[in-house]
Amino acid sequence: MQEILKEFHSRPLSIEAAKRVREQAALFYSKFGRQPVLMEVCGSHTMSLTRSGLKQALVDHVQLISGPGCPVCVTDQASIDGMIALANRENTILCTFGDMMRVPGSSGSLLQAKTAGKDIRIVYSPLDSLTVARQHPDKEVVFLGIGFETTIPILALLLQQAEEQNMANFSIWTATKLVEPIIRHLLDSGEVQVDGFLLPGHVSIVLGEENYTFLREAYSKPGVITGFEPVEMAMGIYRLLSMLVSGEAAVGNEYKSVVGKKGNSAARQLMEAYFVPDAEAWRGIGLLPDSGLRIRDEYAEFDAKKKWGVAIPPPRKTKCRCGDIIRGLIAPPACPLYGKACTPMNPIGPCMVSGEGTCAAYYQYIREE
Ligand code: SF4
Repeated sequence: MQEILKEFHSRPLSIEAAKRVREQAALFYSKFGRQPVLMEVCGSHTMSLTRSGLKQALVDHVQLISGPGCPVCVTDQASIDGMIALANRENTILCTFGDMMRVPGSSGSLLQAKTAGKDIRIVYSPLDSLTVARQHPDKEVVFLGIGFETTIPILALLLQQAEEQNMANFSIWTATKLVEPIIRHLLDSGEVQVDGFLLPGHVSIVLGEENYTFLREAYSKPGVITGFEPVEMAMGIYRLLSMLVSGEAAVGNEYKSVVGKKGNSAARQLMEAYFVPDAEAWRGIGLLPDSGLRIRDEYAEFDAKKKWGVAIPPPRKTKCRCGDIIRGLIAPPACPLYGKACTPMNPIGPCMVSGEGTCAAYYQYIREE
């Protein structure tokens, strides 16, 4: 295994893979007279591409644009505002992932609320929030459930356990997102020109290769599922370019070690048992129909939004351009706040907060002094 892992980090292999990518990009250019535009849907891919230097190495050959796959970046202000409103209630403990603490809402972050004395706790697994609820039967415990199809099955498991354990003092504030509706939205809007997609590795473990046939059938676009090591990413880009050059709009799988054709049906069944599709708000984009999942009415007692009926004011307009970043319309340097008012130490938007955020990735690895 160690030998296999070493190969993924192998410098000669990465150089060879990048060389093959450049050759395919040259073929694309000679055929279409422009650079190919590929979108990496997943925030972890964005981070891997910039950290490894692959994005920078290919800048004159392939336009790699970031997409909407960072769960923190796409969480809208209303979810943060709602959680802060809940934190202001008496006898309430909020649990959330660490990345969410500094994400700005309309008028502050969870970290600011915690500093002001609210009981807000970071958990490393959603299931830890159930432990907190058991330890504090006299308090209400609410978990902020964000994430894509990678995390949603764990939220379903959380609901299953809460139900089995009759947890009357526990609920989840859901702000979940689905991959297919947002890709469809980007393509339907026509705002951004994308030739092909680097499809997310983790989400695809749950969804499976066949989930993406809509790319070919409805949009005639190719997509390639890929892993996160530089060599895997380079091979994904190479495969995508090869398809574009040969005019093939297929779904490729360069992550076969963990992604099967049909994905994880047990995880999907668990999701379906506890959630139904619903409109979901995306930061900087707005409400998109059936682009997220809400808790089924049978389990309304665990749905924090229904349980507490918190009124959320409409989000305030800000100068943050995360909405444009996650749609692939601009790169971070095009935001006037980037690197000036907005830095990792003083983030104005979630794309600078998250460990998978495009602005954070650029600031850390591409920033020009
Ligand atoms: Fe938002 Fe900051 Fe990124 Fe600008 S640089 S889009 S303000 S996160």
